[in-house]
Amino acid sequence: MILTVLSWIAIAILSVSYWFQIWKIHVHKEVRDISLTYNILLAIGFGILTFTVYEERSLIFFVKQVSTTLPVIIIIIQVIYHRHDTWHDLALKRCNSCSKEVERQWKCCAYCGNKII
Ligand SMILES: [Zn+2]
Repeated sequence: MILTVLSWIAIAILSVSYWFQIWKIHVHKEVRDISLTYNILLAIGFGILTFTVYEERSLIFFVKQVSTTLPVIIIIIQVIYHRHDTWHDLALKRCNSCSKEVERQWKCCAYCGNKII
């Protein structure tokens, strides 16, 4: 009984954790550091397990698979949707030759390779 309750709590925590990622992407619209490959592989793995779990008639794992597969699919859609969006920090300098934003610690521009003055 206690193990069943703990399993349901774990499922709730696992699925909620993905929604924190979804919310962060939604607010920042920054997906530069999020791996699309990682999330696609995760979705395929979770998706396959959803079907095998359905075959085994295990409600708890079926719910777990669905509640983790769906948010991962949403993350994939967000990454594709926001792939060209960039986070703008007005305090950052701009490159002298290509005028793109450069990070403080960069010695050379990551876009055009010019030395940052
Ligand atoms: Zn540049």
